[in-house]
This record gives sequence, structure tokens and C-alpha cells, in this order.
Amino acid sequence: MSTARPGSMQAIVRRSAGGSFTVESAAIARPGTAAPLAAGATLVRPTAALLTPLEREVARGLGIEPQGTTGGARVLGTNVVGVVEHEAAGGPMRGTRVAIHPVASCGTCERCRGGLALHCAQRTILGIDAAGGGLSELIEIPTASLVALPKELDDERAVFAVSLARAMQAVRRGGVDRKTFASILGDDILAVLATIVAVEENPLARLVASHESTLRLAEQFGIRHRALAETGRRGDQELVIDTTGSAETLLAATRMVRPRGHVVVAGISARSTTPVELPHIALDEIEVHGSGFGQLAGAVDRLARRVIDPSPLVARRIALADVARALPAIGEPGTPAIVVQVTR
Ligand SMILES: [Zn+2]
Repeated sequence: MSTARPGSMQAIVRRSAGGSFTVESAAIARPGTAAPLAAGATLVRPTAALLTPLEREVARGLGIEPQGTTGGARVLGTNVVGVVEHEAAGGPMRGTRVAIHPVASCGTCERCRGGLALHCAQRTILGIDAAGGGLSELIEIPTASLVALPKELDDERAVFAVSLARAMQAVRRGGVDRKTFASILGDDILAVLATIVAVEENPLARLVASHESTLRLAEQFGIRHRALAETGRRGDQELVIDTTGSAETLLAATRMVRPRGHVVVAGISARSTTPVELPHIALDEIEVHGSGFGQLAGAVDRLARRVIDPSPLVARRIALADVARALPAIGEPGTPAIVVQVTR
């Protein structure tokens, strides 16, 4: 489990009794008191973070229990890179630049031992249900969650590792190969990244989006794209990857696939996911798959080798103190992602 260090500045989201949410940048109490590091934990100073629709959904209530142990408050930040401040036995040395896998697992339960550590029964996810998120000046992270960054990969690109790993996992879960007629449905960075990854397997893979700005982004990346309004419900796709994860987009995805086609739900949303045309899913024998967080190493390697340059996805750069003001703009046309300089 990741924990914020006392005295550090953080971007905190709070749920009020009325069910609304506020985000503020503040220093947590007890400055100066330094508790000893937990066993198996490394002290990391986050340097850069990416604000994506996932952070926005947490601000909207994803993973936050009103009566939770943290009193309905969470520190945001799932897409983070940083520098090791205090090394742990067997971990990367002080000064090493690292990417942080957001899923912390126990390492001992049946799932962990069975190769399903990302689905650990006791898992916590950084910035979603862990007490501390990465938008914090200092944070304790399980040493096993750290992936050292190569020198040639700067923070501004490395900070896309978690989102790219999710995109790669979505394509893997969909089983895209040379013959798969696939569409990626969404208006977020996950949709763009997943289409770029899918195109490597099948050049005909395309992005289906609602906003003109997303279609222009697709053009910039040189990937095939189509407006959702023009695609309709033809029911001819073999695979549709939904990167929003809402009831509406899942409905659209199930209408786009052919009978016995596959839908991958890769979006993680705070919005309710009511059942969608279950008779259609049953009668047309559509297969629905979930897709969560993939492994980081492959994503870090792709970014380091510049197979993917995510820089067109960065709308702007801000400081940690400006997170609260910037967050509502995420996902709006023209603002796919924002880079936060957490510390220098
Ligand atoms: Zn476990």
C-alpha cells in the first residue's frame, strides 16, 4: 500500500456528505514527522504526473467510499514517475528514476502465487483506492511496483507508461491480430494509444470518436478514424474496445460488433454501468471482456525506443498547486492530458 509522507504537498479529493466532490492542493498535517519506511517500501519523490480521464473519474468519486478509512479523502495520481529518495533492500538505488506500477499486491495470496498479482485479493491501486496517490511531493511505494527508467526516456514521455500499458493490455485482451476487424471507441488518450498499438497488429484498426478534436489527433498520429455518428450500428465489427467505460459507450460498442463479436471494456468510469441491451448480447452471443492495468516494462520499452511519441496528447504543463483548477478540463475537446510537474 502506498502512503503519503507527512508535510508533503498533495492534490486531495474529498467527498462531502451531500455526495459532491472537491479537489484541493494542500500540505497534509504533521510536517516534519518522519515515520520509518514500511518493510518492502521505497521512498519516492514524484517528479511528473499525467492528468488523464482516470484522475478525473476519481475526482468524480471512483473508488471513494463516503465512510472509508480516510474519511472520504484521497490523494489523486495514478500516472506517475519519480526519483528514489531512500532506497530499500533489493530495490533501485537512491537517485534512480522510476515509473510506478499503480497496482500494489500482497505477493503471498493464492492469486499472487498463481500469476495474477494484478488481481491480488488485497490489491490497492495508487490514486484510486490506496490512501496515497502520486500527486504528492513524497510517497512510500512498494519496491516491487517500481520500474527503473532508461536514461534516454525523459519524464514527459515516461509519464505515459501506465496509460500505454493499459492500451497494450486492452489490445491483448481483445486478441487483435492481422485478421481482426477492430474499432477502438473513445475520445480519450487511452483510445488514441490503443489504436496506435492495434495498428501495429492490424493496419486496418481504426479509432471511432465523437469529437472533431479527437479525429484531428488521429490524423496527427496517422491512424484511421471515423466519426461515431457516421459509424452507426451496422453490427459488422469483430472487436470493439470501449475506452470510456460508461453505459452509453458500452451500448454503442455492443451495437457496433457483429454476432459473436467481442467487446473489451477498458474504460474505468465513476458513472453507473447499468445493463445494456442484455437480450441483444445474449441473442447475438457477444463476448464482453474487461481490461485493466497491464505490465509497465513493455510500455516503458516502447516509449524509450520512440516506437510511440505521445507528445501530441499533452495539452499543457502545470504545477502541483494548479491540479484542482486544471482537472475539470481533462477529456474536454482539445485537452486529452495535462502533465503536472510535481517536484523539480
Ligand atoms: Zn496477493
